[in-house]
Amino acid sequence: MSIEPEFEKMPGFHVLESLWRIEYKAVSMEPILTQAATEEAQELVDSIIGKKIPKDMPDAVPLIIGGKAVITGNAVKGVFRHLISSQLTKAGLRVCCQKVKSRSGIPEGRVSECSPEKPCFVCTWFGTPSRQGALHFSLLRSVKEIEEVLADEPIPMIALREDSGAVDPKARAFMLLAPIRENVEFRGWIKGENLSEEIIGAIKEVQDMSEKGFVQFGGYKTRGFGALRIEILKVEKYETTPFKLRESYEGEKLEEFLKECQEKYHSLMDRGSKS
Ligand SMILES: [Zn+2]
Repeated sequence: MSIEPEFEKMPGFHVLESLWRIEYKAVSMEPILTQAATEEAQELVDSIIGKKIPKDMPDAVPLIIGGKAVITGNAVKGVFRHLISSQLTKAGLRVCCQKVKSRSGIPEGRVSECSPEKPCFVCTWFGTPSRQGALHFSLLRSVKEIEEVLADEPIPMIALREDSGAVDPKARAFMLLAPIRENVEFRGWIKGENLSEEIIGAIKEVQDMSEKGFVQFGGYKTRGFGALRIEILKVEKYETTPFKLRESYEGEKLEEFLKECQEKYHSLMDRGSKS
């Protein structure tokens, strides 16, 4: 049975004690395919690649908004939530299983969805379908225009579509993928309400995992796509009465602050039942 060590509670959405802005960059360590293709995006990418390819159009291309390659905030949030949830489950903390994902039953080590009155650490910060979270993830946009970040040549692949597996004969298809290249820089930011040092430490923990290639976005992850190296660049804390910048962490000061936050997060895991 998972126990519930005390984590620092969120004061609630009715009291705005602090606002946080966490700016970060993310650099691709592998090619990335951010989203399944729409026809319009396929045509655009096809015209940029501008090559005779043995197909009419690439099968998978990145999501493009305003001329930049984009990873949606929802996708970023999902990756952070997954890593933090599974890490805390391993540490023996109470982590619920979202109803939308529990059709095949609740996995071992997880409890069923939290009640709104007593959310687990993950639901407190990431929210539930019925209750907003305290973290909001911006779009992650490539710094450079799409023309400059696409891989020069589409990557051919015999692919098993992840959803249908080998049963569907159409699933074993020759595919052409037009991913974002390696070493492409994206920028994004995370907004937070009333954040605790523990959750900021958890975000830093994901940054550490990303340095070794363990944080992947988009499709075709098992084929070596999608690893991004995350680096927090700046954390700003705002006070709210009146709205005013209270603290801006950058450089060495940021490093120190993140280290402190991460220690709080580690201490939370240490208090879990399986440590
Ligand atoms: Zn929960």
